[in-house]
Amino acid sequence: MATNKKPGNWRARTQAVRGGQTRTGFQETAEALFLTSGYAYETAEEAEARFKGADGFTYTRFGNPTVSMFEARMAALEGAPVARGTASGMAAVTAVFLSSLRVGDHIVAAKAMFGACRYVVEDVLPRFGITHTLVDGHDTAQWQDAVKPETKMLFLETPANPTLAIVDIAGVVKIAKRVGARVVVDNAFASPALQRPMEFGADIVVHSSTKYIDGQGRCLGGVILCREDFLKDHLQIFLRNTGPAMSPFNAWVHLKSLETLDLRMRAHCTNAATVADFLAGQSKVSRVLYPFREDHPQHKLARAQMEAGGGVVTFEIAGGKEAAYRFADALKLIDISNNLGDAKSLITHPATTTHQRLSPEARAGLGVTEGMMRLSVGLEDEADLCEDIVSALAAV
Ligand SMILES: *Cc1c(COP(=O)(O)O)cnc(C)c1O
Repeated sequence: MATNKKPGNWRARTQAVRGGQTRTGFQETAEALFLTSGYAYETAEEAEARFKGADGFTYTRFGNPTVSMFEARMAALEGAPVARGTASGMAAVTAVFLSSLRVGDHIVAAKAMFGACRYVVEDVLPRFGITHTLVDGHDTAQWQDAVKPETKMLFLETPANPTLAIVDIAGVVKIAKRVGARVVVDNAFASPALQRPMEFGADIVVHSSTKYIDGQGRCLGGVILCREDFLKDHLQIFLRNTGPAMSPFNAWVHLKSLETLDLRMRAHCTNAATVADFLAGQSKVSRVLYPFREDHPQHKLARAQMEAGGGVVTFEIAGGKEAAYRFADALKLIDISNNLGDAKSLITHPATTTHQRLSPEARAGLGVTEGMMRLSVGLEDEADLCEDIVSALAAV
């Protein structure tokens, strides 16, 4: 296989369509799907050479041509030196932590993180002697107070789930540099089409490609983007031997999805901004959170870090849980689902689903209220979405 085209200085939208593509001798236009777990060698010497590090594949747990194309395309889009695909977003997050941290290390993480990430930080890492401090991610002073000489990683998600609070990536990077810690950003909510954390100095970016990168709710996947030294010193050997490998089929789906990521994200953002403004005008909605609305407490920072406000809108129905349930149950078009980043609009009640594991105090600390709904705005006609919302609000 040879790379047929030189990526040169291709712009992001060109990279999204062509970055990382390699072709076989058949010169296929679409990227090939290599569903193979192993690879054969012409000679025993060739097998020996491959195992000593010669170019080429040996086993799909180590690498696969389709997965490699996806990784190269993601690296081009994020502006990262290297990328590695994983089985899911959680496999990516867990591998970043466990591949490099050791007993005695400390991490600082923003409280508002994806529920499963919080489980890894609070329940798994302490079993290996890795301690943590949780902070309000949007308050940069708290990051400053939390770092100590043994702090090795700062972990954040922005916009954060479900309140869409924004973390100042460059501000956190500055604090991390003082203690020589790495900054890890979970970029799943924005996708590289809207936000590239490495431009603000982040060391590592992780994704759940299950969300906007797939974009149609089909396959699980994850990505880790980092520099060569982190790959060589920590990640490569860990991934190869612990096995959170990405399925070539899922990599192929996500690779093809990247071709439309920019178009889809623009449409998600336009729809979400329209729906957010529409919700703000409804009397039964007491609060709307959307990063690019002027009433978002950090909309200036959001505009500095992101190209658009994203596809998720969070809002509060006046009347708490009962009112929120009535609203959700009365929706006819928008589905009740905890997933996000789908072409289909999906709504969830975070307090009783994604954030149910947290104590009421922890939920309150995050600003997750009983009337809060998180809406992942899809690609349907926004007029149909607004009509569905209005008729469901009438049931409240
Ligand atoms: C979904 C999600 C994850 C986990 O990804 P999976 O692919 O479901 O394992 C991690 N972080 C964020 C922000 C997510 O939305």
